[in-house]
Amino acid sequence: MTETPEFESFEGSEIEKSFKCPYCNEKISMLLDISEPGRQIYFEDCEVCCRPIQITYSSDQGRLVDFFAQKM
Ligand SMILES: [Zn+2]
Repeated sequence: MTETPEFESFEGSEIEKSFKCPYCNEKISMLLDISEPGRQIYFEDCEVCCRPIQITYSSDQGRLVDFFAQKM
């Protein structure tokens, strides 16, 4: 038996999203909680340049439907 449910972890409430930092243009990633439907706003410091990024995203039924990373 080689059944490996490798996508199992994505059925939960969090997904990993990669995006470019609006300041330094480095690719970074973060975990998004998509268990709550509707629009969410987060503030996250870039792990490369440490400047604050405003993360805005929307989710619907466990799927990410919209994502923005903006300078504050
Ligand atoms: Zn940065």
